[in-house]
Amino acid sequence: MFGDTENVLKAAQLLQGDGIDLGRIKESIKMMLEAFGEDAGRDGLLNTPDRVSRMYVELLEGYRMDPVGMVNNAIFDVEYDQMVIVRDVEFYSMCEHHMLPFIGRAHVAYIPDGKVIGLSKIPRIIEMFARRLQVQERMTSQIADFMNELLRPKGVAVVVEALHLCSMIRGVKKHDARMTTSAVHGSFRTNMATRMEFLDSISRAAEPLHI
Ligand SMILES: [Zn+2]
Repeated sequence: MFGDTENVLKAAQLLQGDGIDLGRIKESIKMMLEAFGEDAGRDGLLNTPDRVSRMYVELLEGYRMDPVGMVNNAIFDVEYDQMVIVRDVEFYSMCEHHMLPFIGRAHVAYIPDGKVIGLSKIPRIIEMFARRLQVQERMTSQIADFMNELLRPKGVAVVVEALHLCSMIRGVKKHDARMTTSAVHGSFRTNMATRMEFLDSISRAAEPLHI
């Protein structure tokens, strides 16, 4: 299957511990409502602490996914050494500075060195890193590093484009707060033609990013 389970797990950068403490989130949200000056007991807010705490379980589930189980049956030995590109994978993440969403698309490419991964797994890998408190730059590198450990390909490249709500709705209110980040390894780093082929492919006719 894949190379070194220990390194793959390390590259997944999971959190230890028992998982999210729902009780403490509930208490904290109630305290926040009170700190806003709201009546935390009124109808519309009564169940908000509970709803928000359960929401975070979902939004932050990437910290505790099982990456080995996730990819185990989907890595295949194949003699194929051309570029594989999966583009326009939608994701939702949370900026760790403001705990507001950033939303966008990720494009992943790699050049296999004997191993390929089932296409449906790449969105799962992206989700594993998106569903955390993140900065876009780190998320981009984590996806590339994980692919690199998992497949040991000849090269891997990840480009992420996202809109950040924290820039759109507060501060300077840049309504088009789009950011693009990239991470490249192996032949995508060393070979300009390879890199250009990937960039050219992802630049073609996608709907503009919007929320
Ligand atoms: Zn932010």
